[in-house]
Parts: sequence; structure tokens; C-alpha cells
Amino acid sequence: MSFHALDLHPQLLTAIEELGFETPTPVQQQAIPEVLAGKDIMAGAQTGTGKTAAFGLPLLHKMLTQPAQQLAAGRPQVRGLVLTPTRELAQQVFDSLTSYSKNTDLKIAVAYGGTSMNVQVKALQAGVDILVATPGRLLDHAHVGTVDLSTIEYFVLDEADRMLDMGFIVDIKRIMKRIAKQRQTLFFSATFSKQVKDLAYSILEEPVLIEV
Ligand code: AMP
Repeated sequence: MSFHALDLHPQLLTAIEELGFETPTPVQQQAIPEVLAGKDIMAGAQTGTGKTAAFGLPLLHKMLTQPAQQLAAGRPQVRGLVLTPTRELAQQVFDSLTSYSKNTDLKIAVAYGGTSMNVQVKALQAGVDILVATPGRLLDHAHVGTVDLSTIEYFVLDEADRMLDMGFIVDIKRIMKRIAKQRQTLFFSATFSKQVKDLAYSILEEPVLIEV
């Protein structure tokens, strides 16, 4: 199978080609068509399997081909949110999404602790298509009103098992309360304990299961 067979936007295909990706990895082959079809997914995938492009490429495709929801004038808007357990992973996912979207006008931003809120606020005020964030800093922005999570159309929980191991369950629940129920949710975890499954089924609707 080639990336062309996945019917991705030409601007994304050019970037993929420039990055030297030739064949979609197994998680990409399985996840991309389901995400494009609007399905929630629950995917078992470790780091290194290509999971970032598995959710990133179809989300970028949808943002290029489907107009944003109408909003009250002047409000900054975030269409997609990727939540990661660590700053390092947030930066890595941001770098990957930035490279996949380099031939588009889409805006990707990243927000994690230990760095200036102000720089992040400037990016958010300019409008963001996909925000990659760690839970604590995201809640800081939500509390001071520099991000409005009610406009989120796509929500990705990356490395959910690590998220729980690190004690982020309360933060995740707080974040979920602010996100609209009508959204597409993509759930990634390397392992599936009962606690991970409980979290998955509490935020997913009729998910497609993907195992690689
Ligand atoms: P990830 O699992 O998302 O952290 O990706 C692991 C690494 O694989 C990253 O460095 C990606 O740039 C690379 N990668 C992702 N998809 C592909 C692909 N289809 N072909 C070659 N490399 C890829």
C-alpha cells in the first residue's frame, strides 16, 4: 500500500515524500482510513510505530478539506487538541505535525510547563488549528481564558497509559469537562490495563479497535 492509496491531501503527500516516507506503517494503514471516515479509534501502539502520523495526517487532511465551525467574531479557535504526558513528547509531536503540515497554511502550536506562558498566549491568540499540550499547562491556559476548549473538534490522547501512571487522571477529567461532547476522539496507549480501558470507554464512542 502507498500513501497515495490513502487519499491524503496533495500538500500532505508532498511533505511525506520530502520526508522520505515510502510506505505507511501498519498503524498508519489501519488508522488513517478510520480517522478520515470520522470514527473514534482505540489504538494499541508503542512509540516508534509511526503513531504520530497515524493520527496527525488524517487530522491535517480533514482540516484542509473541511471548513472550521462558525464562531463568535474575534474568538481564537483551536480545532484539534493532542494531549501528551510529557514535555518532551509534546515537543516531538509538535515537530512531527509541523513537518507534515509544512506545505500548508495550517497552524500548529505547543504548550507545556517550564516555558513562558506569554509566548504560548501569542500563538493561541493568532488562532491555532492543532494545539499539542501537556495537561497541567493546558489547564493553566483554560483557567486564565487564553484557550477555549469548547471549539475542539478532534481530541487525541497520546500515551494514555503513561498519562495515568503519571497521575493525570484528575487533570484529564477536568479537561474533558471543557471539551464538547460532539467531537472525534483518538486514543493511543502502549498497554491496556483495566484502568486504561475504563478511561478509553469513558471518552470514546463506538471506537474502532486497532492493534499492531
Ligand atoms: P512515532 O512512532 O510517531 O514516534 O514515529 C517514529 C519515527 O518514524 C518518526 O521519526 C517518524 O518520522 C518515522 N515515520 C513515521 N511514519 C513513517 C513511515 N511511514 N515511513 C518511514 N518513517 C516513518
